Amino acid sequence: MIIENLNNWSQLFNSKEFEKEYAYTGDDLGCTYSKDKSIFKVWSPVASAIILNIYEDGTGDNLIETFPMEKGAKGVFEVTVNKDLVGKFYTYSVTIDNLEEVDRENPDNVRYAYVENGKTFTNEVVDVYAKAVGVNGERGMIVDLANTNPVGFDSDVKPELKSFADMVIYEVHVRDFSMAKSSGMKNKGKFLAFTEHGTKNEYGESTGVDYLKELGVTHVHLLPSYDYATVDEAKPDMPQFNWGYDPKNYNVPEGSYSTNPFDGSVRIKEFKQMVQSLHKDGIRVIMDVVYNHTYSAYDSCFAGTVPNYYYRTDGMINSNGSGCGNETASDRAMFGKYLIDSVVYWAKEYHVDGFRFDLMAVHDTDTMNRLREELDKIDKSIIIYGEGWMGGPSVLPFEKACFKQNAKKVPHIAMFNDDIRDVIKGSVMDPEVAGFVNGELDTSDEKVDMLMNKMRFAVTGACGHSQVKLTDEMNGLLPRPWASSPMQSINYVSAHDNWTLWDKFMLTIKDKPVDFVMRANKMAAAIYMTAQGIPFFQAGEEIGRSKPMGDGEYDENSYKSPDSVNQIDWNKVHHNKELLDCYKALIRLRKEYKAFCMTTAKEVEDNITFIEGLGQKVMAYELKKDEEHLYVVFNGSEDAVEITLPQGTKGWKMVFETGESKVNDNVLVCDGFSCTILSDEGR
Ligand code: CA
Repeated sequence: MIIENLNNWSQLFNSKEFEKEYAYTGDDLGCTYSKDKSIFKVWSPVASAIILNIYEDGTGDNLIETFPMEKGAKGVFEVTVNKDLVGKFYTYSVTIDNLEEVDRENPDNVRYAYVENGKTFTNEVVDVYAKAVGVNGERGMIVDLANTNPVGFDSDVKPELKSFADMVIYEVHVRDFSMAKSSGMKNKGKFLAFTEHGTKNEYGESTGVDYLKELGVTHVHLLPSYDYATVDEAKPDMPQFNWGYDPKNYNVPEGSYSTNPFDGSVRIKEFKQMVQSLHKDGIRVIMDVVYNHTYSAYDSCFAGTVPNYYYRTDGMINSNGSGCGNETASDRAMFGKYLIDSVVYWAKEYHVDGFRFDLMAVHDTDTMNRLREELDKIDKSIIIYGEGWMGGPSVLPFEKACFKQNAKKVPHIAMFNDDIRDVIKGSVMDPEVAGFVNGELDTSDEKVDMLMNKMRFAVTGACGHSQVKLTDEMNGLLPRPWASSPMQSINYVSAHDNWTLWDKFMLTIKDKPVDFVMRANKMAAAIYMTAQGIPFFQAGEEIGRSKPMGDGEYDENSYKSPDSVNQIDWNKVHHNKELLDCYKALIRLRKEYKAFCMTTAKEVEDNITFIEGLGQKVMAYELKKDEEHLYVVFNGSEDAVEITLPQGTKGWKMVFETGESKVNDNVLVCDGFSCTILSDEGR
């Protein structure tokens, strides 16, 4: 047994021998409940003994009974309890020999060392595979999942989705959606707010789900909604807020979003009600998942069950690719398996339609491709996308990581396109830096030239194009085509991170009237909504969402800011109707013309023709797909531009504009600082 010598635990856990000897492939880890019996299985090849503790409640001194578990093949401990345990709570007491806590001055250090000292160490932990938990996720709960299904959940049907290119994603935090008085919703801060209909703002206009239907988005992307650590679920009336990027129990919904966090079955049922209701409304549901780190590596259930196995380490320090103090080890068999099992569970049990991976580069490409294969077995229309970057340095070799630069190694997984994000409105890192729509065009010819090439690149869905000039002479930092198809590119200008789009404009457009900001915003939306790839926007971008902090400052990282900063102000539906109408028109346009939804890099190359010689600040291109023929112009100069269009077969018709452009036969006078889209109605 190689396990007997754990002195070189890091090397051992990374070794193929360990994987061969101990990697467990069964799908029955955790608690398998039936009325007659419950079977508990937990993987810990390093443990010498594990005891199952059954409790009456999710917290407090109410132990009912304990059961020693038996160690079997692959280091899986197991016990069967022959009674109906539904509604009871449970933990494992994991005993490991020759383990000691390292004296740690730095919380970033590894907690444990395996040392031949003859001592034993026991941790009481929550089952990492727990499907239900009590308040604050302190204990697992035994539930009958069949009883958590709302009526009709078995016949729940996903709204139709033919291609990822047809998606329009709306990113929202569960609490932000409903907290404001102007939401008109009853279930404030809860999953159930997504089941409410007929809700209105103070002007009698639709809010909530009715509003989303009118807006036309196809997917709601929820910020982390699994059980996270930093909101005290026992104090629902205390104002508390967190984005939720601090995972605690991955296979369980967050308790503070349920109407009763003490009874573990309530949050499960209400999450399912939300999904079911959104599906009925024609909207799919994406979960933001954060498998790259846990809230704490020090006392997480992973660390207590198999110390030092689930996390990557550099000597006695936690590797920190997450920037949050630790990172998980998807490249080790049993965390890779865990990640896949967990995502598959959400897809099957909760009917979740997509997964957005936080800091996806912390995960290895092999594991992510295996996940894609497993989801394909369930439903190929379930999307995976993520951030193709890390939050800090990692021991994972660059070539193995899901970096954007390695996107072609995970061809069926999409990534956030920070190239389009930054070229449209300037870097997210610097408040002063602007982009195409907000002032960067006022600089030198050389810079404008480079920017215009980046703009061309931006609309190719990161696939590149022979008319896009991305040469080293211009700038070594120019983007390189990184996507294998436009469906790998998530096109956006704002997300929960960084300034809202409106606030970025407030910081970069200082001496211009509001009308100018409005035009910049419309043009920004028009660029990414019509670009090849998958459009994505932060909830409220379409109504000028802002997070002001006073004195001309705006909150760029509102992860724990109060509701007053984060909540969506639904009265802005009224105040910014003109902007909202622009977004609605763009979404309608995308749905009407398939030319905006190309699915291969070859289509992008063959069917887009950029128009040369129109002036330095003008980007225009023709788009063709099947019978469709479109002409798209972004005029970034202040002056109107006259363009001779190719001869239309039945004549050109204006289908979208943000300015006052005019078309007469085949002459287009394109208004200054605007977007104009024409369709040859000969189709
Ligand atoms: Ca929680």
